[in-house]
Amino acid sequence: MQIIKVKFLKGDAPAGKAYTYYSLVAVAVGDKVQINASAVGVVVAVDVPEAEVAPYRNRLKAIIGPLNTPPETYDALEATVAQSKYCLEHGVPHAAPKSGWCLRCNQNIYLPGKKACLISDYKVERSVLDSTGISVERAGQEYITKCPHCGWNFWE
Ligand SMILES: [Zn+2]
Repeated sequence: MQIIKVKFLKGDAPAGKAYTYYSLVAVAVGDKVQINASAVGVVVAVDVPEAEVAPYRNRLKAIIGPLNTPPETYDALEATVAQSKYCLEHGVPHAAPKSGWCLRCNQNIYLPGKKACLISDYKVERSVLDSTGISVERAGQEYITKCPHCGWNFWE
């Protein structure tokens, strides 16, 4: 995960001040990115030091991704089916919970949620940071063994 600065684009020109975001995929200065559902921006800085954002890091949001990233679909049922197919095709046991619900952080692995971390042996706390769930597309392409929100390994 990268911390980046982005300027919003008005038409084709960057406008206003630079805002700080997380990016889940690597981007470079000059890349155009989809900031949220309605706004497009251009990356003006990458690898912003964590210390610089420390005072407001809980409020940082993640950009959607590079511009023209195909939209990902979130659908728990379709994703479970996609993962089942993947497991069958690759001859591996289905590790992810069939219902999609992570028993540890109590969120659906196939839907967007909140980053969660283990604060004691049994207690998991959800943070305010957004966490992308596993899309239908990803569920059809990779073997899922961990919760995307809390990192719980389903084999444990
Ligand atoms: Zn979890």
